[in-house]
Amino acid sequence: MGVERRIGPKEHGIDPTALDEHALFVVKTLQERGYVAYVVGGAVRDLLLGLRPKDFDVATNATPEQVKSCFRRAFIIGRRFRIVHVVFGRGREHEVIEVSTFRAYLESADAKKVSGNEKTSKHALAQVSHAVDSSGRVLRDNVWGPQDEDAARRDFTINAMYYDPSTQELVDYHKGILDAKKKVLRMIGEPQVRYREDPVRILRAVRFAGKLAHLGFKLESKTAAPLKRMLPLLQDVPQSRMFDEMLKLLQTGHALASIEQLRLYGLSEGVYPLLDLIVAKSAEPMIHAALSDTDRRVNEHKSVAPSFLLACVLWQDVRHSWEGRMANGQPLYPALQEAIDEVFDARIGDISGRGKLGADMREIWSLQPRFEKRLGQSPWGLVQQARFRAAFDFMRLRVATKEIDEELGEWWVQFSEASDEERDEMLERYRVEHQRQSSSRPKTTRVKTSVVSREKPLGLEADGAEPLEEGAVKSAPKRRRRRKPKGSEPSAPQ
Ligand code: ATP
Ligand code: MG
Repeated sequence: MGVERRIGPKEHGIDPTALDEHALFVVKTLQERGYVAYVVGGAVRDLLLGLRPKDFDVATNATPEQVKSCFRRAFIIGRRFRIVHVVFGRGREHEVIEVSTFRAYLESADAKKVSGNEKTSKHALAQVSHAVDSSGRVLRDNVWGPQDEDAARRDFTINAMYYDPSTQELVDYHKGILDAKKKVLRMIGEPQVRYREDPVRILRAVRFAGKLAHLGFKLESKTAAPLKRMLPLLQDVPQSRMFDEMLKLLQTGHALASIEQLRLYGLSEGVYPLLDLIVAKSAEPMIHAALSDTDRRVNEHKSVAPSFLLACVLWQDVRHSWEGRMANGQPLYPALQEAIDEVFDARIGDISGRGKLGADMREIWSLQPRFEKRLGQSPWGLVQQARFRAAFDFMRLRVATKEIDEELGEWWVQFSEASDEERDEMLERYRVEHQRQSSSRPKTTRVKTSVVSREKPLGLEADGAEPLEEGAVKSAPKRRRRRKPKGSEPSAPQ
């Protein structure tokens, strides 16, 4: 079970002022009600290593119901692993503190065994607090127990330390502090058994190895050895959990480092279809740019959206299908929509049920042809779209990867930052220039049907294919007057 060691602030060196005020409030409230409570997990690890924690988790001996009753906005969530979300603030600025009740250390042999999985054995799992499937995968883990047992069922030694803000003491059962010094990522217990209990730990191992690689951390050899062999176990994990884990791997500031770790341990294939695809294509200019941009943004504490990254990842598929459809005579917009449907069906599968994510990706893609329309009121309509920023950032990646003209990208950067008057001038200048160019060309060559030519795929109007009259001109929304933003940052949240 591990031996308890209590370590004072002089030895561990955690800066008490680096703790999150809401996490402190949660711990203090629980302690005042007579419960034992600590900050735990990744936040303690990161504070110890001098990193800024991504989120704060709290562990307590209070049951989820007792925790819930201590806070105004607290919600019990999860079936496999019941925890409480204590919520502070609203909207974009809100913060969630995850509070978990100390778990008992249990042998899989003592658990209820079900023949199916969490979906097919729903009935058998109702009211059960500890259950495993035929491979030993834990389907229910909700038996409460003492703190030392809770520590033993956490994943890595450096993730199993508890910090009490009121005494500034660190409680360590598995020599986590020593492993932190040695820069070792070590699974608690027998790694094979631990991966079997929860195959997602395979991805967690890769994620922490990626996250801490720049500090010199390495997976301990016994922890790393079974990774590849255990990979087939991931097939049984619910797709939605795999999708969430994939996003954690890609959107927490160390996507490229994690992909490197996947390759290092022979996990480039067979993890999860969408992730396999990203690993395979991670050197493609647009995907590489999107991944490194995501890492940069996270490290600058800016927001990132999964829809943006996935739109980049699947763009070449969409583009390929779109061009094929247009080559077969389908008009531009219906061709694009059908290409998107096709790619969603082929690549996203189950996850397409995540309405907002799919809708946002579709919008980013659907707005792309509109960047090529600079006549009339169309640009005014585009900048007023709710997803303009994401579509604009996406368009700039297309420019950076030479898919579309730099001139077009530059024009939009200027237009998006300009005042109303400057925008009017830009549009007028463009109109005059466009008219001059078209009148110097023989009239019979004008193509009115499509902005996309086959030779130069996504309709660069540099080849003069932009129609003079556009439907968008008539239907453009009434523009809102705006002033030139002072010192505004061009690249807003994705
Ligand atoms: P992050 O910085 O990504 O938040 P974390 O280590 O805090 O990393 P969480 O998913 O927030 O990861 O989980 C909090 C803690 O709960 C972990 O540090 C670990 O102790 C424990 N934990 C989470 N998931 C598992 C798991 N699948 N198996 C065992 N322990 C886990
Ligand atoms: Mg955490």
